[in-house]
Amino acid sequence: MLTRLKRRLIEGNRLSDIHEKVENAVRLSDEDALRLYELRDLNALAFLANIVRARKNGDKAFYILNRHINYSNICILSCQFCSFACRKKGDGAYEFTIEEIVGKASHALRLGITEIHIVGGLHPTLKFEHYEQMLRALKNLNPLLHIKAFTAIEILHLAWIGRLKVGETLERLRAAGLDSLTGGGAEIFSPRVRTLVCRGKETAEEWLDVHRLWHRMGGRSTCTMLYGHVETIAERVDHLRMLRAFQDETGGFTAFVPLPFHPSNNRLSHIPEPTGFENLRNLAIPRLYLDNFDHIKCYWVNHGLKLAQVSLGYGVDDLDGTVLEERIYHTAGAKTPQEQTAADLVRAIREAGRIPVQRDSLYREIQPPHGWIAAGCPDGQPAEEETETGG
Ligand code: SF4
Repeated sequence: MLTRLKRRLIEGNRLSDIHEKVENAVRLSDEDALRLYELRDLNALAFLANIVRARKNGDKAFYILNRHINYSNICILSCQFCSFACRKKGDGAYEFTIEEIVGKASHALRLGITEIHIVGGLHPTLKFEHYEQMLRALKNLNPLLHIKAFTAIEILHLAWIGRLKVGETLERLRAAGLDSLTGGGAEIFSPRVRTLVCRGKETAEEWLDVHRLWHRMGGRSTCTMLYGHVETIAERVDHLRMLRAFQDETGGFTAFVPLPFHPSNNRLSHIPEPTGFENLRNLAIPRLYLDNFDHIKCYWVNHGLKLAQVSLGYGVDDLDGTVLEERIYHTAGAKTPQEQTAADLVRAIREAGRIPVQRDSLYREIQPPHGWIAAGCPDGQPAEEETETGG
């Protein structure tokens, strides 16, 4: 029985048909998604998205103790939305050595992280073996450390520099220590948008083919959508439909991660940054439309922890992690800090009325939570880093 307030949200916005589908776990159509994108009532979206969130995850909201490492910003491409990439001899170009990467990971391991998240540019001269050595060196630190690394675009680049087939590339990287793929590089799948904002980058089909091969090998990955630049709402829905169809086929995506475009220091600086309204609806609508995804992640680095906390009422069940160092969004003007302590993530989740659950990279619960909280750091503050490394 709907309360008067709920009736106003649903019937007042002519959403009874969509509400009925959501309540009965019936898949939404593209037309439904387009209608939801036209809606201006965020409370109605929150109400609907929370039904799915509660059905899939109850009141649990996940976080992970992780460390990001952006090993190099040197890249052969020039995506219009990218503020991170540099040419090899360009101002600000950097490249961490394997020793520097191991130093960063080693410090983070002492803080209790369970995952290293590695992405970088498409480096023109590093050999394929360099990446294998990097993975092996990280795995040698602790075989239980989960290495989530490389976008599908980086994998295709590594296949090219190694003159290997994509399957062979993935096999060799897995043998060296790769555990999961990251979800970046998807941007918006529409060929029109890709021509405008990332000419030269692989197509949607090529991106999906890498994930397909990886999932067939038993691997898992995440997927993303970079929104808020030149794409139309219909192109966002097309993107989501392709991800949903792909998930029907492989079931290998652990989570969907919407990424708002950041306009500083790139060629699309004339486009305003997505607003809080835009960000919340791009979390809530995918929660409703992607019925075959278990988790919707609000990556606090590009939304800010305050909005990420609010997003827990808009279908989100994961705030990601401690991160420790992030360069991609910060070169694009992100004003968020470089890291969150576990205590800050837990507090944000608790305040929002959810149950904080530390997870590993595959969303298995870690009980009792370990790391900063359980390692005798009651305030959740990380210790000083002993070796300051790299660029
Ligand atoms: S988005 Fe990735 S591929 Fe494109 S320029 Fe930036 S680093 Fe290179």
